[in-house]
Amino acid sequence: MSGAHLRAPGLEAAGIAHGFGLRDSPPVPELVRPRQVHGRGVARVAAAGAAAGAADAVVTAAPGVAVGIATADCVPLLVAADAGRAVAAVHAGWRGLAAGVIGAALAELRASAGDDAALRAAIGPHIGPCCYEVDAPVLEALGRFGAELAGALSPSRPGHHRLDLGALALRDLRDAGVAHDAIETATACCTSCDAARFHSYRRDGARAGRLVHWIRASALPRG
Ligand SMILES: [Zn+2]
Repeated sequence: MSGAHLRAPGLEAAGIAHGFGLRDSPPVPELVRPRQVHGRGVARVAAAGAAAGAADAVVTAAPGVAVGIATADCVPLLVAADAGRAVAAVHAGWRGLAAGVIGAALAELRASAGDDAALRAAIGPHIGPCCYEVDAPVLEALGRFGAELAGALSPSRPGHHRLDLGALALRDLRDAGVAHDAIETATACCTSCDAARFHSYRRDGARAGRLVHWIRASALPRG
């Protein structure tokens, strides 16, 4: 599988071109990526070659255009409306989750595809609760998740907890109206545990590389 990307089976079955990056994945030609700032900004891309600017989610309904984001432990999400009429790539670390980047991205996706569009989402490789320990300031920032934050935590050492970022991403997808059976987690493996396949900031520090994840809008024009 050298040089490949990870595919989410549901997106694959729906005929949506996409990939979650591995350490040795080849670059995707003409991929539009934002300059990521750990916020909730959403870039809407109207054409291939457009600049996405500063954002942590990128949406397009332009036929055949691929959008992407990069991660090294944060949660990557790829979302498609209908059969790829519009698509979104989202970068959600704890700051983005706290800020509500997933909800913002899905609102923009619905604005592009129509309120009646059926959404399908895949959560990609990110740091698992096995390897992700956080302290009180992070938990305070994530307070909007309420009881579900408590459910995503397990105590580690005094003042620290292990946190399941993927569980929070799942909550936001459901809150944004994505049907339970249209959310995939098969590719949500731990980036820190699997050094052979993934870059990890927690594991490798400042020298960590980035995994690039992408999704392409259907080549067929709308209508
Ligand atoms: Zn792990």
